[in-house]
Amino acid sequence: MSKLVKPFRLPPMPSLSELVKLYKLRAIRQLSQNFLLDKNINDKIIRSAGIKKDSFVFEIGPGPGGLTRSAIEAGAKEIVVVEKDLRFMPGLQLLADAVTPTVNMKIFNGDAMTFPMGQHINRAYEVPWESDELPNANLIGNLPFNISTPLLFKLLLKVSDRNSVFACGRVPMTFLFQQEFGERMICPPGFKERSRVGIMTQAYCDVNIDFLIPNTAFVPPPKVNAACVTMIPLKKPRLKTKFEIVSKVVQAIFQFKNKNWIVGANTLYPKKYPEFLTRFNELCKVDQNKLPTDLDMIEIDQICSSYAQILDVFPELENYDHRISPHL
Ligand code: SAM
Repeated sequence: MSKLVKPFRLPPMPSLSELVKLYKLRAIRQLSQNFLLDKNINDKIIRSAGIKKDSFVFEIGPGPGGLTRSAIEAGAKEIVVVEKDLRFMPGLQLLADAVTPTVNMKIFNGDAMTFPMGQHINRAYEVPWESDELPNANLIGNLPFNISTPLLFKLLLKVSDRNSVFACGRVPMTFLFQQEFGERMICPPGFKERSRVGIMTQAYCDVNIDFLIPNTAFVPPPKVNAACVTMIPLKKPRLKTKFEIVSKVVQAIFQFKNKNWIVGANTLYPKKYPEFLTRFNELCKVDQNKLPTDLDMIEIDQICSSYAQILDVFPELENYDHRISPHL
């Protein structure tokens, strides 16, 4: 079992539950607020993330700051947090003041979906992408469940482009998701839970459910349990085609989950021009009798690269959307 180093002890501060009472922090449902006030669980998440001494940490949605405190205790030396709800600012500032100057904690009131993360990472932590070693930096968060999918896709795009936080290298991410969402992220071929979320995650990262957290651990408890998930960007993605094309193809083939994958893939091409599909069938040798959920990464890679080869010749096809132009 990994040892939790405690190089830093927090100075006396109000406990998390005192903070919640002090600032009257009643959870707002629209912001998916389910607080984790249990120090043992927050410490366990930080151990899973592998936060080490003198590290850089970027946290999404710190709320009252339970996970932030555990990250600091584990040795984070620089910590940037972005929180949408203004009510948490005084409590977070209290924490930042208490740990200065040992820890450099920067607090931003903003939306993680649009926040320019890349501007706030310190490039001194950079490790080359191809290195076996990972940067001493982590992205963490007990995420607002209502933005799980768009935020995950945004981060995966940044991984594929190696920009923003990932300009520093293969920065590991440890997030809490709803259990069912986490299970979809790790699902291999052959199961009904296999989905676009799993394919996209596995295309760019090694992904693992570290442990589950019962819903009763949160205040207020959400309806379902959570999963602590760690993603480590891959040196080479499992799907070689560019992100936007992969995303379009995977979305197309998974729109009819219970039909053979070719039924969804057909919608990538206008019916009026059957020669596209003919060419695709010549290029792509994947068994057309398979369900999308049964395709492995090698097969999906073949489907994406066959489509990409057609785009090389007819780039305007990338803008074709069968929902917008069904008559074509
Ligand atoms: N980390 C805290 C904890 O574990 O107790 C709070 C977790 S709570 C599930 C999600 C947090 O994300 C809330 O504090 C909420 O205000 C914040 N949040 C919601 N949407 C956000 C967004 N778009 N950008 C940044 N923070 C957001």
